[in-house]
Amino acid sequence: MNQARAEIPYECCGLIASNQGNIQYFPCKNLSTEPKESFALGGYDRVEDENDEILALVHSHPGHSIEFSPLDISACEESGVPWIVVDPISESWGYLDPFLTLHKIEVT
Ligand SMILES: [Zn+2]
Repeated sequence: MNQARAEIPYECCGLIASNQGNIQYFPCKNLSTEPKESFALGGYDRVEDENDEILALVHSHPGHSIEFSPLDISACEESGVPWIVVDPISESWGYLDPFLTLHKIEVT
């Protein structure tokens, strides 16, 4: 969430990975040419090399809703890992698993 706040108004992205049982968040680069509307995950090779398992992909929707876009949903299905979206302005987040179960959780 701090990374998402720092990068307003741009979308940010990162990965949650497990390394020998330690779960860590890795901020990645947004390589999209339109970073206000979309993201392209960059700089994740290092995460893949050094970690056992990618647990989830995180990206932000600064100032718009935490609904996943149709593009997000299809990319999530392709990635095969759960996705988390955060909105640093409303401080809410949502979770999407690749089997299309959408849960919304309000953070107070
Ligand atoms: Zn998105």
